[in-house]
Amino acid sequence: MTSQTDQQTLTELVSDRAALLKRLESADTSPLLMVLVHLGGDPAWLGRIAPHIKGPWSFHDETPETLKAELRTAVADVLEGYAASGHPLPLTPPKELLPAMLNACTGQVVPPEYYPLALEELDLAQVDPKTVKWRKEPDAKALSDFKVLVIGAGFSGVALGIKLKQAGIEHVIIEKNDEVGGTWYENTYPGIGVDTANHFYSYSFAINDDWNHFFAKGPEIEAYIKRNADINGIRENIRFEEEVDSAVWDETALIWNVEIRRADGSTYHTSANALVSAVGQLNRPQLPNIEGLDSFGGPAFHSARWDHSVDITGKKVAMIGTGASGMQIAPSIAPVVGELTIFQRSAHWAMHNPLYFEKVSDAKKWVLKNIPFYAKWFRFQLFWSSSDTFHDKLRIDPNWGDSARSLNADNAEVRKQLEAHIAKEVNYDPELIRKATPDFPPYGKRMLRDNHWYRMLVRPNVELVDLGIDHIEPGVIVDKGGNRHEADVIVMATGFQARRLLWPMNIVGRDGATIRERWGEDDPRAHLGITVPEFPNFFVIYGPNTNLAHGGSAVFHSECQIRYIMQALRELIETGQDALEVKPEPFWDYQDKVDAAHRGMVWSHPGVTSWYKNKDGRVTANSPWRLVDYRNLTETFNPEEYAFTSRADVKAKEHTA
Ligand SMILES: Cc1cc2nc3c(=O)[nH]c(=O)nc-3n(C[C@H](O)[C@H](O)[C@H](O)COP(=O)(O)OP(=O)(O)OC[C@H]3O[C@@H](n4cnc5c(N)ncnc54)[C@H](O)[C@@H]3O)c2cc1C
Repeated sequence: MTSQTDQQTLTELVSDRAALLKRLESADTSPLLMVLVHLGGDPAWLGRIAPHIKGPWSFHDETPETLKAELRTAVADVLEGYAASGHPLPLTPPKELLPAMLNACTGQVVPPEYYPLALEELDLAQVDPKTVKWRKEPDAKALSDFKVLVIGAGFSGVALGIKLKQAGIEHVIIEKNDEVGGTWYENTYPGIGVDTANHFYSYSFAINDDWNHFFAKGPEIEAYIKRNADINGIRENIRFEEEVDSAVWDETALIWNVEIRRADGSTYHTSANALVSAVGQLNRPQLPNIEGLDSFGGPAFHSARWDHSVDITGKKVAMIGTGASGMQIAPSIAPVVGELTIFQRSAHWAMHNPLYFEKVSDAKKWVLKNIPFYAKWFRFQLFWSSSDTFHDKLRIDPNWGDSARSLNADNAEVRKQLEAHIAKEVNYDPELIRKATPDFPPYGKRMLRDNHWYRMLVRPNVELVDLGIDHIEPGVIVDKGGNRHEADVIVMATGFQARRLLWPMNIVGRDGATIRERWGEDDPRAHLGITVPEFPNFFVIYGPNTNLAHGGSAVFHSECQIRYIMQALRELIETGQDALEVKPEPFWDYQDKVDAAHRGMVWSHPGVTSWYKNKDGRVTANSPWRLVDYRNLTETFNPEEYAFTSRADVKAKEHTA
């Protein structure tokens, strides 16, 4: 129950006071306090309870039990009051209380610049503020003549499909797999899961109060995406098992001609007025280039192509790579395999979170579902806990002495805590501490959740090898120290070809410009990460410099991009123009700003080698911005940054020529 609770539901909710009070025992203090102040409007409660909320996670709550009991009673009183009076629940809290409420909700100070974002994310009035509405009734012919082709049906493509459908814009989604889900469909390795809490890592317009875990595993996320595709009737617009090979801009017709390959190898052409890439950054597996890999002889597969026909029980398994996927896989398979040899190029930081393994109890789910507005405030609390609060800790202090190990005083403190965690988990084994401790500052790569990785390293059947692989022979991996490691199966947790964004598609824009030439092998650039000069009516979701490495949810970013793209499409359809193209000045201005912002951030740190940087050291994958900055940058499509063309202009030009 989120808002617009009808009288009957409310009456039922309060019909058994004792049962309600019992159920409220499962509520977290901070969102429950928000419900009370929202509905009751009494700021005194903030003064009483806020000092006990020490941070944005539920485990930061230090409210005494007696006070919690008072809070529950007050909530029951308020709900009963509304039920008895018949007054509708107020959709928003008293405006003047919002700042203090946001602070109490998060246990931190939420600066005023976050208020628009907070109201949007909370969407207490359920007006879906991120959905772009027509400013005037669109011309029927202009609308029906306009078609969008979306590439990819992962989290982003499905969300865009929903928004296009709501706007009545004709569209087709081309998906190379036989299902929706993208990342969450393709990655089926043992232990697959998120490191962003799911009540936040999900669509803002489709809040799910039924997550089984705070940090869900892959199948549950895949099911969520499928459900949203089904509920919104998106499948009818998806062409599964078809892959976009190329798209060429027709400068006369002002349309994209797209070549599509079916699973059986046959191809066909179609056209669209606008082309949107939703292929993600992490969709093309990166296989390691190791001498002799082909000669191994046994099963060898990439983490995103897990071969479930291979029974690894009792086998000698070699895992190459200890990034985000590897650190989820190894602790999940170590108890079942015979031996696990892990080949590590560089260690990765992973933080302990008490909620990581916790299930959402049925009692908590009940509260999320039934207490008005609770789920919304809970989501905001998680947004805050997982987003911008770390950003400042990731700035390089030029005067910081210990610059190889940390960036600034805060970052050094985080490092100290992480090191203490590692030491404790590996039973203070000096060799394991040495191997498992990264040689770059915390947050140099996205901070992972500790999936019992460190604890796994002490298992007698696990060996962590940090010498690098020299070559592979049949059944053996030889490390650079000449040590031979027998293996029955190789798992390559070696990441994705993220630097070659949009690869292997051939996208040809105006005057024959190709994305590959313009971006080179590894220098993708787009205005706001979305539009590219010389590529009219072409938009990218999860494009260059939009990956989030300080925290946050990729879904949040996708929604920002979708709002921007929908406004751009609205501009074309409403104004009767046929093409828009970002002008070089705002494009380059934005590139300069991104690069300047990155210069002070951890991802540019010379000690960090990652897929975030290209070979010249330029950070091309990550956003340098806080979520609030990116939301503000993309909130409003500015037509002045774009050159518009209509078919009539093209004809007139041809006529003159
Ligand atoms: C293991 C793993 C864990 C992650 N955990 C988190 C997390 O905790 N938090 C977070 O914020 N992010 C996480 N991410 C990042 C994740 O990729 C995004 O959160 C999100 O799922 C991206 O969705 P998407 O739709 O943009 O891209 P994808 O999910 O990658 O979907 C792209 C789709 O495009 C299709 N496609 C690609 N090329 C073509 C083509 N030429 N023609 C037709 N179809 C094509 C693909 O088949 C795929 O279905 C994780 C990624 C991985 C790999």
